[in-house]
Amino acid sequence: MEKMRAMILSKCAPVETDPLKLAEIDKHQIKKPNEILLKIEACGVCHSQLHGIEGDWKDIGIPPTLPTVPGHEIVGIVTEVGKDVTKFRVGDRAGITPLLEACKKCQYCTEGKEYLCESAEITGESFRGGYTEYITVAEDFATKVPHSMKPDYAAPLFCAGITAFKAVKAAEPRSHKKIGIFGVGGVGHMAIQFARIEGSDVIAFSRSQNHLSVAKRLGAKDAMVFSNNQEEFLERVREKHGLLDAAIVFAPADIVTDTAIKSVKKGGLIVIATVGKNPQFMAFEEKTIRGTLIGSTKDMEEVIKICEKEKVEVITESFPLEKANEVLKKLKNSQIEARAVLIP
Ligand SMILES: [Zn+2]
Ligand SMILES: [Zn+2]
Repeated sequence: MEKMRAMILSKCAPVETDPLKLAEIDKHQIKKPNEILLKIEACGVCHSQLHGIEGDWKDIGIPPTLPTVPGHEIVGIVTEVGKDVTKFRVGDRAGITPLLEACKKCQYCTEGKEYLCESAEITGESFRGGYTEYITVAEDFATKVPHSMKPDYAAPLFCAGITAFKAVKAAEPRSHKKIGIFGVGGVGHMAIQFARIEGSDVIAFSRSQNHLSVAKRLGAKDAMVFSNNQEEFLERVREKHGLLDAAIVFAPADIVTDTAIKSVKKGGLIVIATVGKNPQFMAFEEKTIRGTLIGSTKDMEEVIKICEKEKVEVITESFPLEKANEVLKKLKNSQIEARAVLIP
């Protein structure tokens, strides 16, 4: 059996203890006629891996099994196709989102919300993940990537990009709608651009001065420092901009969600694109709170199209696959500006 290099997680532990171990495992083989085999060129390092690997999300069932090969923002070259494959040919570039496969039969799947499928398989929660050299996927759950897009540019689009895109869509953007984006990291920096493409006035919030200047450069109308002093913060937002029409939350902290809800006008919309718990909610203000999770294959195709047409900027730093533990430590210590990408 041919082997491949992989960074394996056998036990959840703090990233300081180097929980990922480099190992040789059996190279994936096409098992079903509708599958393609990708030779991975790049895999993004998502914040959710940090939580999964450290065991923060055990209570919500992540990771469901061990050992695993983490990683769910994958771009590679098709090196083999199953006999029923029609969408791809050998040599094509393709990408995979966190949704590796769904049943295609249930209500969610037939309504184009396959990412909500109860029997979905998640990329990186089995041996089929991105921190390695090869992966198989059913063709319907892979998306074509133009050869003009570099793999380290395209990989982050497959989780951060689609998450940003769908969160912005959920905020119902239109011309001069005032949308606040809370958190300008790997996901937020793309959301700023998607909202601006729709003509919305983006106001970005972050604790980091560096992120605020990135936000401005990418077209935010204003970028303001987020502070835990909620009253003082809301007062500053009110003074400068009045309240917001909508808010999108990417920063996984309850104080941020709570503040975002309060920074929106009565009747406004709040989109929560992260794990949020129990923010205060006042029914009489008629606000709408919406959750959002990645997106469909159709959404993914749209993301690729928009990024190509509008020249959306993706801020990345590349590292060799073997450096996965170091990258996760950097991510934990806020030393990654936006998105780190592993190159096998
Ligand atoms: Zn992700
Ligand atoms: Zn389904």
